[in-house]
Amino acid sequence: MFTFVHMKIKDLNQNRLLTPSMLYKYIDGKDLLSNLKILGTSAEARPIYGYRVGKGANKILVWSQMHGNESTTTKALIDFWSFLKTDQAEEILKGCTFLMIPQLNPDGSEAYTRLNANGVDLNRDFIDLSQPESRLLREIYDDFKPSYCFNLHGQRTIFSAGNTSIPATISFLAPSADLERSITPARALAMKLIVAANNKLQSFLPNAVGRYDDGFNINCAGDYFTAQGTPTVLFEAGHYPQDYNRKTSRKAVFDALIEMCEVISFNKINSFSVHDYPKIPENQKNLRDIEIYNLKGTSNGILSNKNKVFVQFKEELKDGVIFWSPYFDSLNEEHEGLNKINALNHTDLKNILVDFDTIKNLTKMISLLSLHE
Ligand SMILES: [Zn+2]
Repeated sequence: MFTFVHMKIKDLNQNRLLTPSMLYKYIDGKDLLSNLKILGTSAEARPIYGYRVGKGANKILVWSQMHGNESTTTKALIDFWSFLKTDQAEEILKGCTFLMIPQLNPDGSEAYTRLNANGVDLNRDFIDLSQPESRLLREIYDDFKPSYCFNLHGQRTIFSAGNTSIPATISFLAPSADLERSITPARALAMKLIVAANNKLQSFLPNAVGRYDDGFNINCAGDYFTAQGTPTVLFEAGHYPQDYNRKTSRKAVFDALIEMCEVISFNKINSFSVHDYPKIPENQKNLRDIEIYNLKGTSNGILSNKNKVFVQFKEELKDGVIFWSPYFDSLNEEHEGLNKINALNHTDLKNILVDFDTIKNLTKMISLLSLHE
């Protein structure tokens, strides 16, 4: 078990970082550079590129890596660009015109941070417009006048699809346009696209599609654009069991993009019902990366009367490599581990944690917690 989890941790280091240079080298390798244009620059003066393709009446504005450490949807978006070069995409390109921004936050993508170089969450900046990246997206929106917006993100491993132990491998949201969470005409169209994608994804990911809570926040890009009357879909690439590289959610996002664009191109959107939208389970925070169970609690320590410890990974970029640092998360027995470790299979806790090299810090954390209790 330990070796297995350890292997997965090694895999984690390889793929989640997607800096601008890594991205554009990858795009070049796919022979997709020709339609790429500089749309503006970031706080640290890095270029922000866009890719324009298609001739259809439905204009679709797509952006990814607004949060720099959320690279899965960017990879799915490049997969989608590649798909658009194939014969199968003919109808989509007749129906839609795309403007796609693979990395709206290149500084955060370089530093592997959610925030931009000035420490601002760009997805909470749509009223203030304090940052060059959010101002650029607003200018592009005003100029391009999209019929639809797709806002691409990644979510943490903690989210389950509903009150289950199934990770939400992909989640969606049709953001609200007002505090009352009304189903405005724009929001209804976003809901129908999500219903279409959910129907499509169920055979591939049964019960693993989630929906985010729709509390209104006009500072968020999706809420702002929906309030302007543009149907906007939030995508969140999530976890699939043992797939920390997120190949499964990358495929889910790719499949969802194709399904939604086909529905739009073939004018099938009204064959889906907004009543099916709330049937998609709402995400809960039930999951944690590691569960160590059957622990023996110390008589007077924090572990007394508890037999489980939950550990989460924190991603940290050091010298160009992402390290996954484990930290103690909780003793909440309502949680469920994505990786489970049976303490009974090991003579004592200390040895377990020492064996399990990458979470050895947990030894210190648990003993500190016990001492403080
Ligand atoms: Zn995000």
